[in-house]
Amino acid sequence: MGHTIQRNVKEVLDRIRAAAERAGRSPDSVRLVGISKTVGPDAVRAAFEAGVRVFGENFIQEAREKTNVLSDLPVEWHFTGHLQTNKAKYAARMFHLIHTVDSLKLARELDKRANIEGKVQDVLVQVNVAGEAAKWGVDPAGAVELVREAARLPNMRIRGLMTMPPFSDDPEDSRPHFQALAKLAREIESLAIPGVSMAELSMGMTNDYEFAVEEGATLVRVGTALFGERR
Ligand SMILES: *Cc1c(COP(=O)(O)O)cnc(C)c1O
Repeated sequence: MGHTIQRNVKEVLDRIRAAAERAGRSPDSVRLVGISKTVGPDAVRAAFEAGVRVFGENFIQEAREKTNVLSDLPVEWHFTGHLQTNKAKYAARMFHLIHTVDSLKLARELDKRANIEGKVQDVLVQVNVAGEAAKWGVDPAGAVELVREAARLPNMRIRGLMTMPPFSDDPEDSRPHFQALAKLAREIESLAIPGVSMAELSMGMTNDYEFAVEEGATLVRVGTALFGERR
């Protein structure tokens, strides 16, 4: 298992580097987030040993167990799943960055919980750039509003945007969504809202991360290409 993961990590990092270079970007401007949902601690440890320094979890309970077992690893844990307001407490406790803030209600609850934890919570706003019937995320206009409102919360820091395009067999189909997210981030940046940074663009998964890097991703969320098919 360890050898396969090591080979996979190397290949993904090589591909990220190549895509960054094609786009005239520094490879250091892109971080690989190993999406470790349903993946056991030993596999996470193997990915760490191969060079992954950020892991993304989608389920609070699973993450609580895993981060406990792996508390010795000097890694960042990110939350990349849909976050229910009633789990905000745990999310603020465990995660360096939450990629999936998509409502003011959730932002307010995270702000409150971050205050209790004595931290400032870094978050991304999840945008449904396609505006189609995707499950989660705010539409682009809603994202601007949400950023404006959430920017006023004292224990929260908006670091950028995240998107998850509708699944397609052809990764080229994701490109316009990635371009739209990058454009929206530039628009929000130009509003110069105090305390808001658009430093991070979380986009790209196993089937389309190279396209995402070409379009400006700073965080690519890759699971299957590292750990194999999920059961
Ligand atoms: C599961 C998941 C991923 C990883 O998907 P792969 O196709 O396995 O790389 C990325 N982002 C989010 C939000 C996910 O839920």
